[in-house]
This record gives sequence, structure tokens and C-alpha cells, in this order.
Amino acid sequence: MNSKLKTYNNKRNFNKTTEPKGKISKTKNKLHFCVQHHIAKKDHYDLRLESNGVLLSWAIPKGLSYNTKDKRLAVQVENHPLSYRRYEGTIPKGEYGAGTVMLWDEGYYSPLENINKTYKKGYIKFKLNGKRLKGTWTLIKYKDNNWLIIKEKDEYANITNKKYTRSIKTNRTMKEIENNKSHEKTSKKDGIVCGITITNPNKIIYKKPNITKLDIAMYYHKNASKILPHIKNRLLTTIRSPEGENSKKFFKKHFETNPYLGKKTITNKNGTKENYYYITDEKGLIYEVQNNSYEFHVGNSLITDINHPDTMIFDLDPDETINLKKIRECVTDLQNILKKLKLKSYIKTSGGKGYHIIVKLENKITWNKLKQISKKIAEIMETTYPDKYTTNIRKNKRKNKIFIDWLRNTKGSTTVAPYSLRIRKNAPISYPISWNNVNKIKPKEITLTNIQNYKPAKL
Ligand code: MN
Repeated sequence: MNSKLKTYNNKRNFNKTTEPKGKISKTKNKLHFCVQHHIAKKDHYDLRLESNGVLLSWAIPKGLSYNTKDKRLAVQVENHPLSYRRYEGTIPKGEYGAGTVMLWDEGYYSPLENINKTYKKGYIKFKLNGKRLKGTWTLIKYKDNNWLIIKEKDEYANITNKKYTRSIKTNRTMKEIENNKSHEKTSKKDGIVCGITITNPNKIIYKKPNITKLDIAMYYHKNASKILPHIKNRLLTTIRSPEGENSKKFFKKHFETNPYLGKKTITNKNGTKENYYYITDEKGLIYEVQNNSYEFHVGNSLITDINHPDTMIFDLDPDETINLKKIRECVTDLQNILKKLKLKSYIKTSGGKGYHIIVKLENKITWNKLKQISKKIAEIMETTYPDKYTTNIRKNKRKNKIFIDWLRNTKGSTTVAPYSLRIRKNAPISYPISWNNVNKIKPKEITLTNIQNYKPAKL
């Protein structure tokens, strides 16, 4: 099991290092590469090329050269997991590779010949299409783990190497990476995230793989800048699950007094006043995690203008009787109709059985109007494709049609937010994807443990 990453895993103590555990991934059509600047015992650059679900890796003391006359040493090291390709951080003293790792370049590469064959023979000729590095190089093995890396003649040959000293991922220098990590490490030890003490930090919330309460707090901390634009200043409903994925869950939507949450009083249909809540910043987000809220659902309007929604949502998350192929077809049909109506939409995985399609409205409208429009769109789907879709929830099961669920567009209803975790098996995330990836990415595919392998679509 994981034999290609056995050395990688054996060399590391994952209770101490922040590096990812070694698991073999699926290699898709495009092959990734990365270069990490690594200051350890010696200063070097690690070149990693994706192949058969792992990253083949070489430590290159001087880095890659554009000079076709240079023959630089590249020492092959153990395969790294694919999840390593975006890794950046510090490896603590006494651990293997102790020092600082900066993501220096990333992108895709293409082997110019069948890599499985030439690798066995001891060479790889490849073309890099990185953000910094471009062009063709050849790696040639000459003795044991020692290889040479040589620039091939092409349009990039003999250009001057630029001296990049900052991370391609975070724009930090080596020093800044070091300082940040030591800060994060101490916080982690105390269970303090964003100034909020996480009690029971090691409590296991998800099993297989084990994900603790602190892991969840760290996930929301790291992704705060991505999730906050979608959840702050909106009425929240969170799902709390103090004992983890398989135990009792409950909804929280009412305000409770504390320094981190905002209060919004709303008069309900029957005339009674109720206090709901919202968050405005990362402290509120982490505070909710501390209180065992792991899943975040939001409404379609901002608390500053509660009667005028700015989002429209279609929930294409039907039950198991509808297969994924049909759901994907439905998503595409709906996208086409939205396009014709000149409505900008984006799509995210639900983290459950399907996808959510979200339309950002340029002009705010009333709830009544939103209801009318979304219903109308569902009806257009029904009349355009009468064999496939229905707007009548009672007809869907009998006739094997998909119900176009526009009912999330009423006041008070909420939908799971982009980047929110779901409290379900494997810790899936509701993740924004590009329309091109609808047929490639499954609704539950992106999880807390593999999220680093996916690029979010721009929302
Ligand atoms: Mn290294």
C-alpha cells in the first residue's frame, strides 16, 4: 500500500512536520510540476514532476538554468505526494528536511516522449509551462541518484534567469515564511486560532481520516478570506455537531449574546420579533467553530438590506434515483438558459449529491420579484425540455424527471455557503468549480483532505 510513497512517509513524523501525509492521487490529463526553493542544510531548488499519481523529485543545488551550456547536478530524492506541490512552510528542527520551503514556481508540464519508458532508461525530456519557468529541459541520469539537468535549444534558450525571491503562491520571502510559521505553530499548540481559544482541540470530528476540531478551525482560518465574502453580513444558519459527523446535529440560527456575533431583529409573518445573527469577520467565523458550528448556510440578502436579495440559487441536488450524468446535463441546460437571459452564474459542488447554481444579481430586487424570476426560469427549463424537467415537486419521482428547485429563493431560506464544510462522511466541501470542470469533478469529490489539489473558480 502506498509503496511509491513509503520512503516519503517513513522519513517524516507527521505529528511534528506541517508537510502533508503521503497518499497516492489520481493523475488526470494535465501533469503538474512545481519548483520549491528549500533552505535546509543546503540551499537548493526541488523540481517535482507529476507522474502516475506522485511527484518525481530532484534537488537541484543551483536551480534550473536557461543556459544551454550548463550541466547542473540534480539529485533524485524520494517521490513526494501530489498534495506537496502547493506546500510552503517551515519544517521543524530535528525533522527530515528541517528548514524553510517556498513555492517558487508551479504549472503544467508535458513530457516530449513517453515518460514511463524514458524514465526507466534514465532520461526525461519535458516542456515546462510554469508561471516563471518555460521551455524544454532534459534530465539525464548518470550515476545512482545523480542526474544532470540541461536546457534544450528552443525559443527560451539562453534568456537571462530572473532572480525571484518571493513565493509564487503567497508572495512572501523566505524570512516572512519563517516568521509566519513559527507564529502559526505556537498558536496551534495552545489551540488558539485568530485569538480565540479552541477548547477540546484534539476532539475527533470526522473519522477516516481523523479530522479534529482544531483542524477544522485551521481550515476556516486559512480560507477565511475566501469564505467571508460569501457569509459575512448575511443571516446565518449553522449546523452544530459537538460530537462529530455520526452523532446528533442541530441548527443554530438565533442570536446568543457574545462579543463576536451581530444581532438582527426581524418581525416574522405572525408579528413576533425574533433575533437572528450574522458574523462580520474571521473572529466571528472561528468563534462559531469553537461553538461546534462546522457547516455554514446563508440567506440571499445582506442584513443591511434584508428585503432586497442579491443572489438567486438553483439547488440541483436531487436524490439517488437520478444519476450524475443527468444532473450534469441539467446543470449545462440551465447554464445555457441563464446565458441567454444574460445572467451571470457560477457553479459549486454541493458536497452532497449535486451542484448549486448561483446567480449574482447586479440590481437588487424584491423577494417577490426574485420568486417570480426564479420560478419563470424553472418553467423555461420545463417547456424547453419537457421530457427532462419539471417544476412540480410531486411529479418528479413518478415521471423520472428532475425537479428544478427554485424554492431557495424565498425570504428566510438558506443554502450552504461556498467553501463551507459539510458534516458528512469524508468532510466534503461545497466548492466553486469552473463550468468546464462540471463533467470532471464529482459533487462530493473535494474534501478537507484533498482541497489543496483543486483551484477554486473565480466567483
Ligand atoms: Mn528539498
